[in-house]
Order: sequence, then structure tokens, then C-alpha cells
Amino acid sequence: PILVDRIAAGEVVERPAAAVKELVENSVDAGASSIEIAVESGGRRLIRIVDDGRGMTPEDLELAVERHATSKLPDGDLFSINTLGFRGEALPSIGAVARLSIVTRTGEAETGSSLVVEAGVKGPVRPAPAPKGTRVEVTDLFAATPARLKFLKSDRSEAQAVAEIVKRLAIAHPTIRFTLSGEHITAFTYPPEEPGEHGFLRRLSRVLGAEFHENAMSIGVEREGVRLTGFASLPTYHRGTGTAIHFVVNGRPVRDKLLLGAVRGAYADVMASDRHPVLAIMIDLDPRAVDVNVHPAKTEVRFRDPAFVRGFVVGALKEAITRYAF
Ligand code: ADP
Ligand code: MG
Repeated sequence: PILVDRIAAGEVVERPAAAVKELVENSVDAGASSIEIAVESGGRRLIRIVDDGRGMTPEDLELAVERHATSKLPDGDLFSINTLGFRGEALPSIGAVARLSIVTRTGEAETGSSLVVEAGVKGPVRPAPAPKGTRVEVTDLFAATPARLKFLKSDRSEAQAVAEIVKRLAIAHPTIRFTLSGEHITAFTYPPEEPGEHGFLRRLSRVLGAEFHENAMSIGVEREGVRLTGFASLPTYHRGTGTAIHFVVNGRPVRDKLLLGAVRGAYADVMASDRHPVLAIMIDLDPRAVDVNVHPAKTEVRFRDPAFVRGFVVGALKEAITRYAF
């Protein structure tokens, strides 16, 4: 593998949790209804993702690990993205810095196929028995790139980061079953929920804790083609340390300064500064009204009309807080 590949790879997969994010997003894009994730040594030794999605044909599989070979840009339109992936970078990046093994089968095929990429060297596609769906195993991540390894934290911290990412994705996709297990991880299974607000709240109760349920105000508003759906804690609700603020933009968990600022703004007058709201809000809007192409890891977004989105979120939260005046 050429050096430039490994450098580019480092931007996409800087730690095990980033690889998990990319692989789980692929499973979501493949229409999986169940995604199982397992890690060993914080993901350094092993990351295994098993899904029951549409799988790949041998030809798809061959292409999937090539750089910029994505199947997800039907019209070549980067500005109207409906899938989580679109760069065709994740699998080749992971294959450049680990041993990547994929076994997959489509619903139509009688037998599946497998492929191994080791430190950027691609093996042959071989027939292999497999259930419908895709199983990806990443072993010895960064074993050949000591500079990357050095930046990793303890197995426990890396495992925690993996759990955090999986929880964020589980919040973003309540209808999908998620299972996580592995060393240093409190294993969980989130059963699939019904689409809609009720299922969303049930998933949130699983991820954020049952007590959130009793302390959450619902938010459901739409304006100018932007829809907000979700739940935000009452200002009286206090959940220990740290924040738990989840925004999902068009199915994509995001960490966004603008949105965090909006939450701070909305709660500023009613919440003591040592308290933190817990909330999860889905923002659905025309894909062309938001740029997800800001960073390779794609956790930031850029709204075409940030002032409108910020104002809308602040307004919706303030309205809910007033409605539930305490
Ligand atoms: P991207 O997601 O940006 O297209 P990736 O490198 O993540 O790029 O994946 C490359 C391609 O491999 C995808 O476009 C898809 O066609 C295929 N692929 C990857 N993972 C899966 C999966 N779990 N199920 C089905 N197809 C997959
Ligand atoms: Mg992808």
C-alpha cells in the first residue's frame, strides 16, 4: 500500500470507534434490520460487524474495497445524499491499516463470497457459504502503523468510545436491532422498535435510561420543510455528570456546535449552569439544505441556512419548556 493511502486512511479511521462507525453505517445503508457488533481489546484486536442487509455480489465485493468505488451516488449528485456513506473510502482505508475480511451474500445468490485485504493487499474473491447479509471482521487494526497505535488510549477507553458510537447510531435508527458485546463493554441488545415517535421514545429509554422517559417533553414541529422530532429533558431533570445531547440530521448522528449552542440558548434562562439537559432530536430536511461533506468522519454538518435552523431549534425547545412550565 502506498503511503498516501495510509495517510488518507488515518483521517477516516483514527481509532477503532471510527471504524465501527463506518462499518455500522454501511450496514444501515444496506438496509439491515439487525446489526451485531463485537470488539476485543477495544477494537484493536478485533472488530466484527454482522448484518442481515442486502449483501454484495462477488462483483460488488471486488469493487467495494477499491478507493472511491461507492455504489451510493446514483446520479453522481454529491448535494443530495440519502445514504450515510458516499465517499467509497471506509473499506479501502480500513483495509490499508488492518486485516479486513468480508463474507457476504445477497438474497438472490445461492452461495456467498469472501475477500481478505491485508495491509492494503487485496486477495481473490472466493465463493464461501454465508447467510444473507454481510460479515466484516477487522483484525489487528494499526498493527502496521505504530504511529497510529501510539495515539490510542487504553483498551477500556477505546471500548467505551465504541459503545458511545453504537449508542448514537442506535438512537438514530430505532427500527434496527443493535447488539454490542466484547471486552470492557456492558453488553446490550436494543430490540427493533416501531417507526414513529413512540418507537423512538422506547429506544431512547433503552439507551438513555428508563427515567428519561418520565422526564422528557416531546417535540414535533415542522416549518419550511424542516422537521424536528424528539424528546428533551425537563429543566428540572438532572442526570449526573456530562451531557447527553443527541442530534440526528437525516439519519446521521452529528456533533454540531451550532446545535449545541441552540440547546444552551434554549435552556439558559431556566437551568442552573451545573445541570445539563438530556435530549435527542431528529432533524429531517431536504438533503440539499445540508452539507455533510465537511469532514471525512462526517460528524459535523453545515446547514445552508444555519440561522434558520438554530432559531427553529431554540424556538421549539423554549416552546416545549414553557408548555411544561415547572
Ligand atoms: P461508501 O459507504 O462511502 O460507499 P465504503 O468504503 O464504506 O464506501 O463501502 C464501499 C461499498 O461497499 C459500498 O458502497 C457498498 O456498495 C459496499 N458495502 C460495504 N459494506 C456493506 C454492507 N455491510 N452490506 C452491503 N454492501 C456493503
Ligand atoms: Mg461507508
